[in-house]
Amino acid sequence: MNDEQLLRYSRHILLEAIGIEGQQRILGARVLIVGAGGLGSPAALYLASAGIGKITLADGDTVDLTNLQRQILHTQERVGQAKALSGQTALAQINPEVLVVPVTERLAGERLASLVAEADAVIDCCDNFDTRHAINRACVKHRVPLISGAAVRFSGQITAFDLRQTDSPCYHCLFPEGEDVEEMRCSMTGVFAPLTGIIGAMQAAEALKLISGAGEPLTGRLLLLDGLTMEWRSVRFRKDPRCAVCATKMLFTSSP
Ligand SMILES: [Zn+2]
Repeated sequence: MNDEQLLRYSRHILLEAIGIEGQQRILGARVLIVGAGGLGSPAALYLASAGIGKITLADGDTVDLTNLQRQILHTQERVGQAKALSGQTALAQINPEVLVVPVTERLAGERLASLVAEADAVIDCCDNFDTRHAINRACVKHRVPLISGAAVRFSGQITAFDLRQTDSPCYHCLFPEGEDVEEMRCSMTGVFAPLTGIIGAMQAAEALKLISGAGEPLTGRLLLLDGLTMEWRSVRFRKDPRCAVCATKMLFTSSP
């Protein structure tokens, strides 16, 4: 680190749990953020300000006036611009050291898989189950830690999956695909602006902890926040041995 970096990151370096070594790991890390909306905005701002080396910011939408109530990466002047590009501008203003790669498409298929494979951590800030499950499958396959968050109305939730560990549960263990879950989008149901900030900032915190090695990650625990009462609930969960996505194949099968 040069002198300017030692100053810029001094308040992290002062933390015993991070220190110079942890900050070096942060500077060398590559993070994929899927979604530059309500959750992706605070997540990206904190990861960039903290000095993550490379941030790939993917979003297929453009900035809309209805986004500005909570999507703090974007500004009135950038309404109509691709969110990934608007986000790149915002992050460069805070920390020009960070390499930000904007991806102006809704990630799926091979493109998603290759971006996940080259990341040290993936932050799921998307707004639909198809993408959530596709991200999870790619993270399981490439054994990349996944930090998953959601916010709708006054309800938030967050958990992390350290898929580098073979006994780690995955998103599908917790929320099996195809179960009759109602998909709620902010455009239909509304969302309390600071709730997205709370959950998105926590996603950044979990990513920085996983990358720097500080503390205990939020793995195997789902935190649920009721924003109306500010009550948190913590629910423990385990790997589903029959999970269609992450269950390890039987090594020994009976021969005929
Ligand atoms: Zn699983």
